[in-house]
Amino acid sequence: MSATDDAPVLPGGLHRVEVLGAVFLNATVKRFTLSRPKGFRFTPGQGCMVSIDRDGWRDRARPFTFTALPRARTLELIVKIYDAHEGVTRQLRTLGKGEHLLLGEAFGTITYQGPGVFLAGGAGITPFLAILRQLHQDKALKGHTLIWSNRRADDLFLDDELGRMLGRHYLKTFTRENVIGFRDRRIDRDDLVSVVHDFDQRFYLCGPEHFVTDLKALLLELGAAAESMVFEA
Ligand SMILES: Cc1cc2nc3c(=O)[nH]c(=O)nc-3n(C[C@H](O)[C@H](O)[C@H](O)COP(=O)(O)OP(=O)(O)OC[C@H]3O[C@@H](n4cnc5c(N)ncnc54)[C@H](O)[C@@H]3O)c2cc1C
Repeated sequence: MSATDDAPVLPGGLHRVEVLGAVFLNATVKRFTLSRPKGFRFTPGQGCMVSIDRDGWRDRARPFTFTALPRARTLELIVKIYDAHEGVTRQLRTLGKGEHLLLGEAFGTITYQGPGVFLAGGAGITPFLAILRQLHQDKALKGHTLIWSNRRADDLFLDDELGRMLGRHYLKTFTRENVIGFRDRRIDRDDLVSVVHDFDQRFYLCGPEHFVTDLKALLLELGAAAESMVFEA
């Protein structure tokens, strides 16, 4: 099958796409390269509901975010696998080349709205990957900072790419890494004050619910406007 797929839209507006490649980026994060339905559109930061075209799984859709550029010939999803949940991501661990996924239409409120600071927790980096890759391609990354919080260093993925794109404006923090040399805590008020010199800019937030809630409160305390914050509503 070619990367751009002429397959008809299924009932319910679903698109059946082929897995063209599936590779683990670390022990629990897997990247899927997918055929792209003709005319399928999304804006960087958006995702869609995804289900697996296997018996017993077609009606168990979960939201995931596109990480490749909107004009790329293929679609890309990056998925954190939760083996403890008896759910879709555990099933995605075994999904391979030649199998199929069912995609709904693109949706999502995280879109690029101007220069600022991206604050990501774990797999919450995915909407920012598409946005940062687009800005990089447009040579417009200057004036943007990424702060990425993970539990441990081995939870990172695409670390080299982010480093190449953002240089010293790519900051990593770890909440459970007991190794000398790593900053070992949550993003706090002092971090924000030392990294963010101007609170009159955009703040993009994505990650676990408590991560987004805590950072929103901190940013408000530090003078950021509620309207300057972009997150999944
Ligand atoms: C807009 C949006 C975009 C997203 N984009 C991405 C993305 O690009 N990449 C990505 O990796 N994730 C993304 N996510 C998160 C992703 O949707 C979830 O990780 C995914 O839905 C988990 O599905 P699951 O079926 O594996 O587990 P769940 O649906 O979370 O759980 C399945 C079942 O497992 C059990 N369970 C739940 N929690 C636990 C637990 N802690 N321990 C044991 N059992 C448990 C429950 O019985 C539950 O019914 C996004 C989320 C949203 C809202």
